[in-house]
Amino acid sequence: MSQELRTNGIVQDEPLLWEKGRKGRDGYSMPLRDVEKASIDESLLGDGPDFPDLSEVDVVRHYTRLSQWNFGVDTGMYPLGSCTMKYNPKINEKLSSYIGLTRSHPLLPAHLSQGTLRLLYELESYLCEITGMDAVSLQPAAGAHGELAGMLIFHAYHKSKGKKRNKILIPDTAHGTNPASASLCGFQAVVVKSSEKGILSHETVAELMDEDTAGIMVTNPNTLGLFEKNIRKIADIVHEKGGLVYADGANMNAVMGIVQMGKIGVDVMHLNLHKTFSTPHGGGGPGAGPVCVKKELEKFLPVPRIRKVKDAYALVENIPESIGKLHTFYGNFSVLVRAYCYILSMGPEGLKAVSQHAVLNANYIKEKLKDHFHIPYDRPCMHECVFTDKFQEKHHVSTLDIAKRMIDYGIHPPTIYFPLVVHGAMMIEPPETESKEEIDRLIAVLKIIAKEAEDNPEIVRNAPQFARMRRLDEVTAARKPVLIG
Ligand SMILES: *Cc1c(COP(=O)(O)O)cnc(C)c1O
Repeated sequence: MSQELRTNGIVQDEPLLWEKGRKGRDGYSMPLRDVEKASIDESLLGDGPDFPDLSEVDVVRHYTRLSQWNFGVDTGMYPLGSCTMKYNPKINEKLSSYIGLTRSHPLLPAHLSQGTLRLLYELESYLCEITGMDAVSLQPAAGAHGELAGMLIFHAYHKSKGKKRNKILIPDTAHGTNPASASLCGFQAVVVKSSEKGILSHETVAELMDEDTAGIMVTNPNTLGLFEKNIRKIADIVHEKGGLVYADGANMNAVMGIVQMGKIGVDVMHLNLHKTFSTPHGGGGPGAGPVCVKKELEKFLPVPRIRKVKDAYALVENIPESIGKLHTFYGNFSVLVRAYCYILSMGPEGLKAVSQHAVLNANYIKEKLKDHFHIPYDRPCMHECVFTDKFQEKHHVSTLDIAKRMIDYGIHPPTIYFPLVVHGAMMIEPPETESKEEIDRLIAVLKIIAKEAEDNPEIVRNAPQFARMRRLDEVTAARKPVLIG
């Protein structure tokens, strides 16, 4: 086989359309003119835009080949940690694209949008039940946006009590968006160190909590994949000093149907519908991060709110203490439809089974790999498990090398070097949608890589070998991005 013609399976190099174009090719056939040709002053036309001449098949192959460079959850497992990259059932895509839903214009008056409003109203009530909270706003468009709403609610609450509080406690295992959202609202983030068990101790919180502190923001389960089991005691300490408890519920995939955050002292939380509740995510697509609150805080939720009066649904705008509007209309509607369909198709038992399987999968991986990769916190985990490169260090093989080598075996690398509290972290989240065979394949690949690191570390250090691109210069890519071809 000639070296030049060789391709790596379907991984093909694809030139720019400008390089592919050949003068005189076209990809359309227009009907013949049925009117006389009119004369036109050619000098007015200029040279026109610099578009390449391409046939239909040139264009179709170009874009299809580009699409094959992508790795997605429809191609294979995507074991990122802290992100829940699970497979989303296609039925929810289909239902959310029904014409009655996609064409329902948000400016229609409420009496002509009863179906839409009912769907949103019911979704709010399902989310209340899942979280154990009393009221929900579906408006925030992402997890971080839900956090922002939550922090604005904290602020509004303390203001209504006549006291300005400017600090907020945030554990070192929190998701990075937490301190960012808090400081966007003017709060100063105070770091709470986790114990050697990887979770918060109530004593540490008690030392830091005072009457200038608005409350605490806890990611639960935390980014080590561990459940903050002292949360109840911590909530009591924070409440006693007049503070509020925020739970980042983006990791709800681990606890649905098992823990109701509202029952363990949480006052405000957000969910990531685009992680747990069946909206594909990644690449900055639309999301939804509903913010859920306890009764006392309902009056601060963003407007409009959906109310049910007798059998009709209405939008209420005039709520004086509300933090205001966070999104046009009532949020990213089609994401909300997917979540609604997902919850109804799973039912309460199904949602609980999701969490049980996600947790089982993570613990299975942890147990199977613990002799091959170092585990910083060896306790039963929730939906994700964290390894490090400590065993591989002596062969000069790092977490980055291991992640790159996984690409050679056709597996998307996990989240690496996060959480920050773990040196050389590799964080794996195998959601419930992965079968035992897929998970066993991941385990087998990682065992092979661990062995390669001992016997043939060069191979791991030089990975990926089989990908279209080898190692990119990530620093230059981040500092001097080339955004045009
Ligand atoms: C993903 C995630 C967020 C942020 O959600 P976005 O939708 O990306 O803004 C916040 N907290 C945790 C724990 C997450 O996993």
